[in-house]
Amino acid sequence: MAWISEDVIREIRYRNSIEDVVSSYVTLKRAGSNLLGLCPFHSEKTASFTVFPNTESFHCFGCGAGGDVISFVRRIENLDYPSAVEFLAKRAGITIVQDDRDKERMQRRKRVLDMNVEAARFFRSCLYDPKLGAAGMRYLSEKRKLDPALIRHFGLGFAPNDFGLLTRHLSKLGYKDYEMSDAFLAGISKKNGKSYDYFRNRVIFPILDISGDVVAFGGRVMDDSLPKYLNTSDTPAFKKSRNLFAMNFARKHCEEQLILCEGYMDVIALHGAGFQNAVATLGTAITPEHARLMKRYTKSVIISYDSDEAGQRAADKAFKLLSEVGLETRVLKLDGAKDPDEYIKSFGKDRFALLLKDTKSEFDFRFDNILKKYDTRLVDEKLKAIEEIEGVIAQVPSAAGREVYIGVVAEKMGISAEMIRRDVDKRTRRAQKATERRETERLIAASQGIGDRVNTDFVKNPQAASCEEKILGILLLHPEYLYEMKKKDKAPSAEDFFTEFGKKIYTLMFEIDREYFDISALGSALSVEEIDRLQKLQMSRTKLANNKIELLYELLETLKHAKEKSELSLEEIIRRKRDQKKMP
Ligand SMILES: [Zn+2]
Repeated sequence: MAWISEDVIREIRYRNSIEDVVSSYVTLKRAGSNLLGLCPFHSEKTASFTVFPNTESFHCFGCGAGGDVISFVRRIENLDYPSAVEFLAKRAGITIVQDDRDKERMQRRKRVLDMNVEAARFFRSCLYDPKLGAAGMRYLSEKRKLDPALIRHFGLGFAPNDFGLLTRHLSKLGYKDYEMSDAFLAGISKKNGKSYDYFRNRVIFPILDISGDVVAFGGRVMDDSLPKYLNTSDTPAFKKSRNLFAMNFARKHCEEQLILCEGYMDVIALHGAGFQNAVATLGTAITPEHARLMKRYTKSVIISYDSDEAGQRAADKAFKLLSEVGLETRVLKLDGAKDPDEYIKSFGKDRFALLLKDTKSEFDFRFDNILKKYDTRLVDEKLKAIEEIEGVIAQVPSAAGREVYIGVVAEKMGISAEMIRRDVDKRTRRAQKATERRETERLIAASQGIGDRVNTDFVKNPQAASCEEKILGILLLHPEYLYEMKKKDKAPSAEDFFTEFGKKIYTLMFEIDREYFDISALGSALSVEEIDRLQKLQMSRTKLANNKIELLYELLETLKHAKEKSELSLEEIIRRKRDQKKMP
């Protein structure tokens, strides 16, 4: 568990104030001694995400996320504990001495990155080789009409149609088979255990991360064969859900706006036409992590997906994710071309620049899609369309916004605004009631421990488990109690706890033999969800008047009885089951 010394961790936490770190992701407003903002971990319209500078912690009253600066970084950057510490150390300019396990991890990552550089060089030299790369060059410059400068700018390459060219080249440079497969550059044959080139007969797009490292490759076929794209899967140096193609270029040009495309070719065409703020996801649909990454660099995103049905469906999803992180989002009206690449080729970059000024809002996008689906000259289809549009309007959070759209729709569909308003109101009321009902159900379920994924034993005996959580809450609030109890030999043992979760947390607390410690001291041994839970348990105690040690002793007594009860009833269940079997 000890990975780097506690002193260093303390230093890292000290030099990364929670207020500072959170502010680089979330816009915070002062509220008394605390700070408030929109939660980056769940979608919300009113701020319930709170930062407490006094205790260097955060807590979201909406989704329950909470913890210290390290758990914030773990969650928002999707890192494990050691990487989050490393991230913060780097941020504060602290050098940390690493232990062996970590060294090995960094070593693996470095080997993959070094190998990727060699592979990128290799693919590039193949492309410029008149014999090996002719097909690739023909495809890029003749079929896709890419400028030589653009091909160089993106470091494009070619993987010849051969099973061993790259792997032989890399093994000459001293890379082992397992390393190549680690980097997703080679597959290992099931027949003879030998490695073979993963990318073959494809043009190659190297993928660079923000810091300019070659982290992955995309390979595209030059005809219609499948799969059209082959991409590096996750490796020690790469996570596709967290990287965007060309973000390394776009980040310098996207303060106001990013253009989000579907494919590499669109991005390259756009950069070639002077739109250097274009990026694409890497052979995957957009993820919440992508949305957060974009949010770090820009204010608004223009979705520029293919005009076919799949593209429009993807745009629908992107709208949701992007607006959830608070990005202003609009969609391109691509008329007369299937994608941005084709549009620029047919109409030129100036026309494309005009398109960027005349984009559609989320509402227009949905409205148009509904109108496309129905033939509104037919009465029943028109009614269906109106119903669907009313559903969209009802989801608009502000009453003023709803009113504006009601006006637009009334005019376009030729019906009275009053009628639409009545229907929309009915829907918003119904939705509100449903939310309230769900919330009540959720609260009831939560009190019984149903659906509890952190403390999975809760449901088995809610009485014992909630008593136990009270005990943990008090101990987290007053670690000195445990210290005192230990001295008097009155401390409970882990076996006195009922749930596995309780046993685990108590053991951790017990091992930290100090009068004062906080949740952060347990951080490296816990998941972010477990930290959320502890934070919540501790917070719920701070609101109560009595947290005296006497109460702790009482609760331990109650826990004992509650446990016995559960043990009895368990025996009872077993007995009954047995009896049942005996019955004819
Ligand atoms: Zn939240």
